[in-house]
Amino acid sequence: NLTPPMVHRIIEECRQEARTRRPTVGNVGETFSSILSYSSHAPNSALTRAVEEMTPVDVASELTVSGLKGRGGAGFPTGVKWSLAAKAEGDVKYIICNADEGEPGTFKDRVLLGKYADLVFEGMTLAGYAVGAREGIVYLRYEYTHLRPHLEAVLEARRQANLLGENILGKDGFSFDIRIHMGAGAYVCGEETALIESLEGRRGEPRNRPPYPVEKGLHGRPTVVNNVETLATASCIIARGVNWFTSIGTERSKGFKLFSVSGDCARPGVYELPWGMTVRQLLELVDGVGAKAVQVGGYTGELVPESQFDRVMGYEDLGIGGSIIVYGKGRDMLEVAENYLEFFVEESCGQCTGCRIGNQKLLDGVRLLQKGTCSNRYLNDLIGLSHSIKTTSKCGLGQASPNVFIAINEHFKEEIMARPVLAA
Ligand code: NAD
Ligand code: SF4
Repeated sequence: NLTPPMVHRIIEECRQEARTRRPTVGNVGETFSSILSYSSHAPNSALTRAVEEMTPVDVASELTVSGLKGRGGAGFPTGVKWSLAAKAEGDVKYIICNADEGEPGTFKDRVLLGKYADLVFEGMTLAGYAVGAREGIVYLRYEYTHLRPHLEAVLEARRQANLLGENILGKDGFSFDIRIHMGAGAYVCGEETALIESLEGRRGEPRNRPPYPVEKGLHGRPTVVNNVETLATASCIIARGVNWFTSIGTERSKGFKLFSVSGDCARPGVYELPWGMTVRQLLELVDGVGAKAVQVGGYTGELVPESQFDRVMGYEDLGIGGSIIVYGKGRDMLEVAENYLEFFVEESCGQCTGCRIGNQKLLDGVRLLQKGTCSNRYLNDLIGLSHSIKTTSKCGLGQASPNVFIAINEHFKEEIMARPVLAA
C-alpha cells in the first residue's frame, strides 16, 4: 500500500519532471512518469521470454496471477479473458486492440500509441500466442488518423525483425500479423460489440451480451478485445515478472495505471501512477487544490465531491478507466450536466428508446433548471427519468449517461435550487 512518504516521493518526482516543461495546458498529452515506466525493460523481452520459456497456457496463467484487470474501464481480469478465448472452440480466432479512445477527458492511449507502440503490438502478439490467433486488428479512433503512418512504420519494422509474420522468433507454427482499421468517429464504437459490428462493415450498434466476444466475436469467432493500455501492461508483466507487478499497487488493485488529467488544474497531462492514491493526493500532484469536485473515470465514471476527496483510486473504491476531470470552485455544475448530456444525445446510437429519447428529455429538463424554473417535484421527476434511462439501456453509454446529473443532484442540489429565475 502507498505510504505517505511514497506518495510524497511520487509527487516530488512528477513535479521535478514538470518543472523542466512548461506547466500549462500545453502539457496535455505529455507523460509525467513517476517511480515506474513503460520503457522499464529491454524491447521485446516479453515476447522473447514467452517464445523461449513459456507455453501459451503459461502466458495467460501468469497474467491471471498478476491480477491485471482491463484498463479500458470495466476491469475484467485479462488473464481470464485470454484463457477463455484460448479454450473456446474454433480454428480461427482474433485479437482486437480497442484504440477507439473516445471517452471525454481520456487521452492516455493516444500517448501510449505515440510513444510506446511497440509495447502495444508486443502485447497483441503475446495475446495471439496465448489464445492461438493468427490475426490482430487495431481499431484506431478516426481522430487519431495522424498516428497511423507512425504505427504502420512500427508494424513494418516488426515484420522485418520477425516479431510479426510466420514462425515468429523462430517458433514453429507461431504466426501472427496485425493490421489497422480506422474508426469513423462514433463514440459508441468503443463498446466492443459495436466495434465488431463496425469491423464487419455494419452500423456500429452494440449487440446483446452474452455471448461475449471471447466466445462469439468477429465473424462469429472467438475474439479477445483489449484496451491499448491493457496490452502494453501485459507486455511489461511478462517481461518483468509477476512479483514485480504485484509489489506495486494495493491488495485488490495490482500494478500501476495511466491517468489522463484535465480540467481546472495547473498540470494536466498523462500520469503513470501506482493504484492506491487518494483523490486529494492526485489533486495535490496536478495542482488542482481548491477543486470542488472531480469526475473520476470519464463521463461514465463517478463525480466525487470535495467531502469525499479521501477516497482511494483502486478497484476497491474508484476503479476507473483513467480519466480525471477537475472542477474548480467557479464551475457551474448544471452547465457541467448540460455538457455531458449534449454529448450523450449526440453519441447515442438510437437503438434504445430510453437512451435515444430519455437523454434528450433530460437535457431539456436541465436547460429548464438552468433558467431557475425548478421545484423539488420537477427535480424528482428528472431523477426518476434518469433511473428509467439507466434500466432501459442496452449498453454502457445509456446505462451511465444520467450518472453525472444524478450525482450533481445529490451533491450540489443547493446550487440547483438557488438558481435565480431568468426571464422567459
Ligand atoms: P463489461 O464489464 O460488460 O465487460 C468488460 C469486458 O469483460 C468485456 O471485454 C467483456 O467482453 C468481458 N466480459 C465481461 N463478462 C464476461 C464473461 N462473463 N465472460 C467473458 N467475458 C466477459 O464492460 P463494457 O460494457 O465492455 O465496458 C464498459 C466500460 O468501458 C466502462 O467501465 C467505461 O468506463 C469504459 N469506457 C471506456 C472508454 C474509453 O475511451 N477507454 C469509453 C467509453 C467507456
Ligand atoms: Fe445505443 Fe444508447 Fe442503446 Fe447503447 S444504450 S445500444 S448507445 S441506444
